[in-house]
Amino acid sequence: MKFADLHLHTQFSDGTFTPEELVLHAQKGGLACIALTDHDTVEGCARTATACAAVKMEFIPGAELTAEHEDTEVHVLGYFLDTGNRHLLERIGQFQTGRQQRIHEMVAALNKLGVPLQVETVFAVANCKSPGRPHVARALVKEKLIGSLDEAFERYLKKGRPAWVPKTKMSALESVELIHQAGGLSVMAHPGLNRTDEIIPALVEAGLDGIECFHTKHSTVMSERYLEIAEAHHLLVTGGSDCHGYSKSKPLIGTVRLPYAHVEKLHAARQKLQANGLT
Ligand code: AMP
Ligand code: FE
Ligand code: FE
Ligand code: ZN
Repeated sequence: MKFADLHLHTQFSDGTFTPEELVLHAQKGGLACIALTDHDTVEGCARTATACAAVKMEFIPGAELTAEHEDTEVHVLGYFLDTGNRHLLERIGQFQTGRQQRIHEMVAALNKLGVPLQVETVFAVANCKSPGRPHVARALVKEKLIGSLDEAFERYLKKGRPAWVPKTKMSALESVELIHQAGGLSVMAHPGLNRTDEIIPALVEAGLDGIECFHTKHSTVMSERYLEIAEAHHLLVTGGSDCHGYSKSKPLIGTVRLPYAHVEKLHAARQKLQANGLT
């Protein structure tokens, strides 16, 4: 049996692995295919593709777009993206700028609370264009301003906590469209985590191609329910570990193993999309 892990992060967003390290771990985990889905960036795809090619592993270039629909945050995965697509790069570039601005705002909020964190420390820790809360948490730990990453989220960074700053998000409907025009398939990420069940029909209406039924944070019962929902809406089924390297736990890569038959269905759907001239 061949397996895939279609939800992975690197240092190009909030993961701790380089693309090369990611592929090494994928190999150790016996995976036949991986997708890179960094938050709001496709920057790591070129290096990951090269590293995969060197070990004859299948690679799917992707991204995890931060979106919202009627005040519900939803993460939309794009697969088979043309990573040179001008409109995609322009739009995600704007969200990367928003993320960088948000770091300034979070650090300002921390400073106001008497936490002497410097914005330069966060940007040095992040060293990428798509920084986020995990980088602020890591900088706080590095400077010994807090004991652990969890504590940083609990005390300051979680929604409703004093240094939480909302992200600028694109509309979920735009994210589906943006992915399609870049030649990709759109998939709702971890619906069980974001509690986005109610908005599935609206996104299907907008052209959503699939849902991530298998995810680290989905129980077996949850996965089964999403498989039923996928079937009812004629959606593709994906799955992945959402590995962030050594960020939150030990590396999760390969702990969610998507049977390769689902990847074959993704290939077929992509071909259909291209034949329909949507790209
Ligand atoms: P951001 O995109 O900046 O809002 O950060 C979201 C990222 O933070 C998620 O993708 C996770 O990697 C991480 N994260 C969210 N909540 C927590 C938490 N309670 N503890 C540790 N990491 C978290
Ligand atoms: Fe993340
Ligand atoms: Fe996510
Ligand atoms: Zn993710």
